[in-house]
Amino acid sequence: MQVMSELKKLNEGAKFSHGTVGNLGEFAGKVFVKDVLGETSCEISFGTLAPGEAVPFFHSHKENEENYIVLSGKGMFQVDDDVFAVGEGSVVRVATGCDRNIKNTAESGNLTYICIQAREGSLGGYTMTDGVVTERKSLL
Ligand code: ZN
Repeated sequence: MQVMSELKKLNEGAKFSHGTVGNLGEFAGKVFVKDVLGETSCEISFGTLAPGEAVPFFHSHKENEENYIVLSGKGMFQVDDDVFAVGEGSVVRVATGCDRNIKNTAESGNLTYICIQAREGSLGGYTMTDGVVTERKSLL
């Protein structure tokens, strides 16, 4: 029997929280991150699908777009009536108000992915328009 993975909080400070799902090669099931780490801007989940397995339902979102990042494996992705192949390294953005699903179509090997939900249209500044290089002394 395969044990379902969970997110374990490792440590936290006033300005961060840090957890792990462990070795992705052994990851199983679906894990949501927000409640464990206290995320306020997005929901991140890890998911894995066994060969031939799909998410057991189609779903859509009212306010959040989703970004699926395939970490390993290969399969097919469906958005409404559009179907396309995905594999390790694929990133798929799915808008609000449409149905989506992902299926592992490989004969062997899990399809493991991360899904990031964030409010559609909410991204303002990012990378160098929001980031500021600082002068802190490295303790690494
Ligand atoms: Zn979703």
